Amino acid sequence: MRSIIKSISGVKDILPKDVKKWQLIEDKARALLEDYGFSEVRIPIIEKTDLFSRSIGESTDIVEKQMYTFLDRDGSSITLRPEGTAPVVRAYIEHSLYVKEPIQKLYYMGPMFRHERPQRGRLRQFYQIGAEVFGIKNPSVDVEILGLLIRYFEELKIEGLSLQINSLGCSRCRSPYVEEMKRYLKERYKELCEDCKRRWKKNPLRILDCKKERCQDIASRAPIILDFLCPECHRHFEGVKEEGASLNIPLEVNPRIVRGLDYYTKTAFEIVSQCLGAQNAVVAGGRFDDLVKALGGPDTPAIGFALGVERVVELLPGEGLDYGSPYLFIAPLGAEARKLATKIMSTVRPLKIKAEMEYEDKSLKAQMRRAHKLGARYVLIIGDEELKEGRGIFRDMSRKAQEDVPLDPFDRLIEELRERINNQGCPGQKNRK
Ligand code: ATP
Ligand code: MG
Repeated sequence: MRSIIKSISGVKDILPKDVKKWQLIEDKARALLEDYGFSEVRIPIIEKTDLFSRSIGESTDIVEKQMYTFLDRDGSSITLRPEGTAPVVRAYIEHSLYVKEPIQKLYYMGPMFRHERPQRGRLRQFYQIGAEVFGIKNPSVDVEILGLLIRYFEELKIEGLSLQINSLGCSRCRSPYVEEMKRYLKERYKELCEDCKRRWKKNPLRILDCKKERCQDIASRAPIILDFLCPECHRHFEGVKEEGASLNIPLEVNPRIVRGLDYYTKTAFEIVSQCLGAQNAVVAGGRFDDLVKALGGPDTPAIGFALGVERVVELLPGEGLDYGSPYLFIAPLGAEARKLATKIMSTVRPLKIKAEMEYEDKSLKAQMRRAHKLGARYVLIIGDEELKEGRGIFRDMSRKAQEDVPLDPFDRLIEELRERINNQGCPGQKNRK
C-alpha cells in the first residue's frame, strides 16, 4: 500500500463541523465591522520581504526567525505574510486611498504564516481578522475600537476575558525609556535568556514580552514606560482611560504590554483569556502613528487590531449559539413520502428554512438518529399511514413536543411549517441581518 501524505506540522485542516464555528466568527465580525463603518480589503498573501522587515522591525521575533521567505524565480525575495497591518498600510499608500479621504476604516480576514514551534494556540498557518483606522489621532477612536471588540465577544457569548492596555509612547518619549531599560538590563545581563541577551542592546523592550520565567521576573521589576510618557502621550493615554470609563469599558492598565512588532506607538492593548493556557492573547492591537510615513506615505495616524481566529474558536461556548444546524429534517417512510419530502425541501429552502431529509429507505429510528446528529431543531415525519390520512407529525426536538400538521393542500402545509418554524425563532435567522 502507498504511504499516506499528511499535512505539514503546524498547519491544519478545518473540517465541516468546525467550519460552522469559523463561519459564525467571521459572519459576526463582518456584520459588526460594517456597522461600525469599516470596509473589507483583500490583500495578497505574498509580499516583498522588505515590507515586513521595514515595518515590523529587523530585531523582532517575527522578522528574525518566523517568516516564510523564499526567492522567487527571478531572484527577488518574497515572504508569506506573517501579519496584515503592513500589507494594508502598503495598499493605503500604493492606491493613494488618502487622497479621496484620509480617514479610512479597513478590515481583512485570512491566513497568516509564521514559522513558530507548533503547540496549543500556536500554528504556522493561522487566521486573523483585523481592522485598521487611518487618519484619526483622537483617543475616541481607540475607545471605539475597544468597545467594538467588547461587543463582539458579548455577541459570541465568550466570557472570562480581560482587556489590558498600555501606552508605548512615541519616538520622543521612548528613547529615554529605552536607555533606562538598557541600564537596568545591563546589571542583570547574566540572568537573561540567550534570546534576550542577544537583543538587549538593539531592542531591550522585547524582554518584557519574553515568555521565559527568569526574564519575566526581571521584567516585572523593570522600569515602566508610563513613567516616561511625554505630555502629549500622557494626555492621550488619560483620554483613552477616561472615555473608556465613561462608556463602561473595563480597561485594565498593564504597563508590561509591549507587543512583538516595532511599529506601535501610544495605545497598545491585548485581550486575554483565562481559558487558553500559555497562549492566552485573543486580540492584540494598538496605534501605529508613524508607520504610514515610514513606508513612504503621508504622515497619517492609525490604529488597529488583529484577532486570532483559532483562539476564538477554542473559546466559543458549546451552547447558546447557532452553528448553522438545519432547522428542519424531513423523515419520510416509503417512496411516496420521499417524493413529497423532496418537494417540501425545494419549496422551503428559498424561504430561508434550512432543510435536510433522508433519501434512503431507513427506519424511523435510524432517521431520528441522523436528525439528532445533524442538530436539527424540528423534524417532520411523513409515515405511509399518515400520508394516506393527509397528516404528518411535526416534532420540536429541543422541547421534545410533537403535533400533527396537515399534508394537503400543499400550500397550507408550507404555511404551517413556516409559521411554526419562524414563530419559534429560527436560530440562524436571528443572527442574520
Ligand atoms: P503571541 O504573544 O501569542 O505570540 P503575538 O504578539 O505574536 O501573539 P500578534 O502578532 O499581535 O500576536 O497577533 C495577534 C493575534 O493573532 C494574537 O493575539 C493571537 O490570537 C493570534 N496569533 C498570533 N500568532 C499566532 C499563531 N502562531 N498561531 C495562532 N494564533 C496566533
Ligand atoms: Mg508571537
